[in-house]
Amino acid sequence: MPSEPHYLSLAELLRQAREAASSGERARAEELYRQVVDRSPANTEGWLGLAAVVEDPVEREACYRRVREIDPGNMPAAAHLATSGEAEIQPRCAFHPEVVTTLRCSQCGQPVCARCARPFPVGQLCPICVRERRPEAYRPNPMQLLAAGGAAFGVAGVAGLLAAFIVGWGMIVSLLAGPVAGSALSQVALAAGGRKRGPAVQAVVGLGAALGCLIGGLLVFGAGVVFHLPFLLFAGLAVASAVAWLR
Ligand SMILES: [Zn+2]
Ligand SMILES: [Zn+2]
Repeated sequence: MPSEPHYLSLAELLRQAREAASSGERARAEELYRQVVDRSPANTEGWLGLAAVVEDPVEREACYRRVREIDPGNMPAAAHLATSGEAEIQPRCAFHPEVVTTLRCSQCGQPVCARCARPFPVGQLCPICVRERRPEAYRPNPMQLLAAGGAAFGVAGVAGLLAAFIVGWGMIVSLLAGPVAGSALSQVALAAGGRKRGPAVQAVVGLGAALGCLIGGLLVFGAGVVFHLPFLLFAGLAVASAVAWLR
């Protein structure tokens, strides 16, 4: 039999589907109802018809749920879902579909597993809601990032120049001065960047500070700075502790 002409109207498709279903042509009815819902995804009659003729119980269930989504008051769908084993279909974690869970995010309501849920004063939250609740201090805007990185670059450049005069005294001085410089750097970056912290701020400040130190060192020692161990120790400690302070 040639495939169904595409110009059949929806009403005609439905009529043929009903006819096939009532005369026991299950496969043909299924095919026709699929065409109906393909063409008209919100057609509840199509979904109900399909539910009645599909063989897979899971798919039948899905058809009835689709009807309920489209029309929450639909009686046949509600009746079917009430008597079917829907209650046994347990919710699964929205982030780990393989994990059955009874927990729900108390903010957005989606199911989450124990591994994803985080306790908050308002209840258990899913990872997405946790991210949204992050304090304002962890959400810098691009200008603040630029300011923090730029300030770190400038201060580190000066620190690099000054350090050139003290690192000659040896590794111990570097060991002590590096973290002090890093702490000061982080304070300047916080002040310049609207007191924002977190990974993005850490990244730009780390980069700015490393570049600044390098340029300061280059100005004093020339290319030899890359072999000047006390200076490298100072710069490394300064950058690392600045980044650590901005967590
Ligand atoms: Zn949530
Ligand atoms: Zn999960």
